[in-house]
Amino acid sequence: VSERRYDPTTDEWVAFATHRQTRTFLPSRAECPLCPTLPGRPPTEVDRTAYDVVVFDNRFPSLSPDPPQPDVAATELYPVEPAYGRCEVIVFSDQHDATLASLGRERIRLLVEVWADRYAILGREPHVQYVMPFENRGEVIGVTLHHPHGQIYGYSDVPPKVLQHLQAVARYRERTGRLVWTDVVDDVLADRRRLVFEGRHHVAFVPFATRFPYELQIVPRRHVPSLRELDADARDELAELVHLAVRSYDGLFGFPLPYVMAIYSRPTGGTAPGGGSWDDLSQLRVNFFPPHREATKLKYLAGSELAAGAFITDVAPEDAAERLRKVLEEQ
Ligand SMILES: [Zn+2]
Repeated sequence: VSERRYDPTTDEWVAFATHRQTRTFLPSRAECPLCPTLPGRPPTEVDRTAYDVVVFDNRFPSLSPDPPQPDVAATELYPVEPAYGRCEVIVFSDQHDATLASLGRERIRLLVEVWADRYAILGREPHVQYVMPFENRGEVIGVTLHHPHGQIYGYSDVPPKVLQHLQAVARYRERTGRLVWTDVVDDVLADRRRLVFEGRHHVAFVPFATRFPYELQIVPRRHVPSLRELDADARDELAELVHLAVRSYDGLFGFPLPYVMAIYSRPTGGTAPGGGSWDDLSQLRVNFFPPHREATKLKYLAGSELAAGAFITDVAPEDAAERLRKVLEEQ
C-alpha cells in the first residue's frame, strides 16, 4: 500500500508506505549503507571512498515524484490520492561515529548551504508545496541507522502542523498588524530568562510554552522567510548556533541527547490563508525537540497529549534555558 488517505473526521491526510517495513533496521557497523564504498567491499548506498556531505533519494520513500496508483478506490467520504512528494537522505559525514557536535561548525555551515539548495530545487518541483529538512537522532526517536544523517522531505501540501503555525501567524497579524516572530524575538531579548545564545543575526531560546522541556528554537532577528534569504554572514552564524545547540544538548545529561531537529521555511506552493502571501507569514527557524525530561526519563505522548493534543510540561522553560546556558559555561 502506497497512497495518501484523507480522514474526514480530522481533516488530515495520512501517507501509507507499507513497503518501508522491509527497510534496513539498525545494521551492524560493517553493513552500514551510509558508510563509504571501500575497495574490495560490497557497495554501500554511497558510491564514493570519501565524502563530506552527500544527498540522494531515499530507497524506501514514503513520498515519491512518480508514485504508484492507490490500492483502494476513492469515495466521496474517503478521498485517496497517490503519495506524491520527495524523500531525500542527507549524509552529514563519511565518519560512521560522528555527530553534528563532533563534526563542528564548518561542516554544519556546508549543511546549511545544502539545505538551502535542496529547498530551492525541491520547491520548484510541481508536486512539492513544502520542503522540510530534519534530523532524527537516537534510537528512542526511531532512528534505524546510526550513521550521522538527516532527511529532506518535499510534501505535496503544507503539512497540518505547519499550516496550523502559519494560520496562527495570520491571525496575530490580523489582530496586531505585526509579525508574531518579531515580537517573540523582542520579548526574548528583553526578558532574557529563556535566551540561550545570542548572535548578531539570530537568537536561540527555549520557547515560552514548551511541549518538550528542552526544546530550542533558533530564529533570525529580522523577518527571513527561508534559508534562501539568509546572506553568507548570517548562514555562518546559523551554523555556529546549531553547533552550540547540539554541544549544549550533549553536555546536558552527559550522553548524546536524542532529538528531532527541523527547519521550517516558507511554503513553496499552495495558497496562504486570507489571500495573503506566504512571505508575510513565514519565518525561517530551526527547532529542536528532545524527548528527554530527565537523564533517565522520557516525555511520552500519553493520554492528554496524544488523545487531546493538550500538552502538560513539567520543567519550567526558564529553568531549562538556564541549564542549557550553564552546560557550555562549565565546559
Ligand atoms: Zn556508517
